[in-house]
Formats: sequence, structure tokens, C-alpha cells
Amino acid sequence: MRFLDVGQGDAVLVRSPEGKTMLVDGGRSTTRMKELLQTYGVSKVDLMVATHADSDHITGLITAAQEANPTLFVNNGLAGTTKTWERLVAALRADGTTFQKASNQIVNLGSVRVHVLAPPAGMGDDQNDNSVGVRLEFGRFGALMTGDSETPETRAWLAEDRPEARGPVQVYKSIHHGAANGDNQAWLDAVKPETVTISVGPNNYGHPTRAALDLYAKNGVKVYRTDEQGTVTFTGSADGSYKVTTEK
Ligand SMILES: [Zn+2]
Repeated sequence: MRFLDVGQGDAVLVRSPEGKTMLVDGGRSTTRMKELLQTYGVSKVDLMVATHADSDHITGLITAAQEANPTLFVNNGLAGTTKTWERLVAALRADGTTFQKASNQIVNLGSVRVHVLAPPAGMGDDQNDNSVGVRLEFGRFGALMTGDSETPETRAWLAEDRPEARGPVQVYKSIHHGAANGDNQAWLDAVKPETVTISVGPNNYGHPTRAALDLYAKNGVKVYRTDEQGTVTFTGSADGSYKVTTEK
């Protein structure tokens, strides 16, 4: 699992032992995504997830759609209103990619199980609170990422008592680049992450916030940051152990 250094934005690349590939979001730059696909030798994406349609999450997906012919595309079902969104849809249509609205489906990437967490009902049309969640299971190794979910969405998932939100997980993505309206104590009590990776660019929107960093410290969660460490890679084993390497 690689938390790709895309500056301010999110992009997580997952490769299963069998070589199946998932890309969750793509950052905000097509040229950066092109470099990253080359660096990591990605010529095929089996599963592409757009957590939500904000440009710091979907712009790089356009390049991934053009270069890596995604088989399946899962999103929150709320069409974006931007030219960027239209370009992404056009690139996926040109590939003949299958579109699915997130519906708590399970997608197997070889021996890695991907549980999709559909946004809860009642979130209106706010993109952040309609972020799609992704929970991975590979034997005893688990990971969770939920885009830019704000407190209303995580609270609603907790109220639904979703098993995918129940930890512990070894690998976790900081919600909303470490914003103050993302991770909260009740959610972390359920998820129980061992590590958290903050996908963030230098000096952007004040992310990550002191509040988020304090929350992780208080919960004893080890923090990695793409702005300081570049791409952060977790190599998980089925026994639950894992190795972390950082680019810087
Ligand atoms: Zn974002």
C-alpha cells in the first residue's frame, strides 16, 4: 500500500500479492500521477475508487484512466459539477470501464478483500460527507481510508455499527488531510489504528491541524506524513505484521 506523495490531496495505490491493483483517489495533478504510474510500474488498474469528486482527489484519476484502463470504477454516486469530473467520466467511458455506485460491495483483488463503505443515508449532497470508505483485509492485516469524511459521516457510520469501521487496523489514512473536522475520538475508539498517514502538501489550508496531531498523539497512533516523508509504503503480511518505508 502506497500513500503517494501528490502534495495537497489523496492518492493511495494498493497492489495485492497476485499483482491486482487498486487506486483510491488520484491527487490534484495529472502530470504528477503520470510520473507516479511510471515510477511504480502501473499499467493496469483493476479497481479505481473516487472517494468523492473534489479536484484534489480525482484530477490524477484522469491520467490513471487514460494510462491504466480501469476495469471497475466505484464512486459515491454524486456527479461532480466540474470540467475535471467530466474529463474523468469521458476517459473512463473511452476505456469501457464499468461504473458502480458504492453499495457496501466486496471486491476481491486476489487475496486482498476490499470492503466498500457506502456513504450513509441522509448526508445530502455534500461531497466530503459522502466520501466512500475503503476497508482492506489481507489475512490479519487491515487498513481503512475514508476520503474527506467529516464528523456527521463518521458519526452516522458508527450509528449503523458498520463492521468495517471496527478495528484494530494497522494502517489508516488521516481523514481530510488532518483537518479539524475529520478524525475525532469516538471514531478512533472504533477504528483503533496503529499508524496514521496524513496525505498533505506543504503549507496548504493549515493541514494538518494541531487538533488532529494532538488527537493522534493522545491515542498513541504513529504518524506518517507525505509532505515530510514523500510516498509512504506499507508492506503488509497475512499474519498482520508490516514494514514501513518512506521515500525521504
Ligand atoms: Zn481532500
